[in-house]
Amino acid sequence: MQQPFRCLRCGAPLMAGQPFCANCGLPVQRSCPRCRAFLSPQATFCTNCGLALVPGAPPPGRQQAKPKSTVSIIGDILFGLGIACAIFVPIWTIVRQPDAENSMSVMIGAFAIGGVMAVIGLIMMRKR
Ligand SMILES: [Zn+2]
Ligand SMILES: [Zn+2]
Repeated sequence: MQQPFRCLRCGAPLMAGQPFCANCGLPVQRSCPRCRAFLSPQATFCTNCGLALVPGAPPPGRQQAKPKSTVSIIGDILFGLGIACAIFVPIWTIVRQPDAENSMSVMIGAFAIGGVMAVIGLIMMRKR
């Protein structure tokens, strides 16, 4: 798939194989030696044909992280919910009923439940 390229100076669209900008004359900095597609100066691979432009560079897509397992996604959610519970429930309790007798036990309970959820979430997150 040909990426749309634009002149670095004037922004005019450039066609593959074009040696310089038809609008302002700026020479195109880089093009693929195989398919002549224009490439960004930082490109290590041709975005058109996939040719490696830097010797020894790994093929694109190789270094992608493994997809997360369902268990670790559930762990992420549990961890986030646990942290949110331990932080926001006490704040909410203080804001809503600062003098209530049971606000302390609500806060302790939220800390305990949130902490347990976060720990279980952490354990599940490590299972890949
Ligand atoms: Zn131009
Ligand atoms: Zn190419």
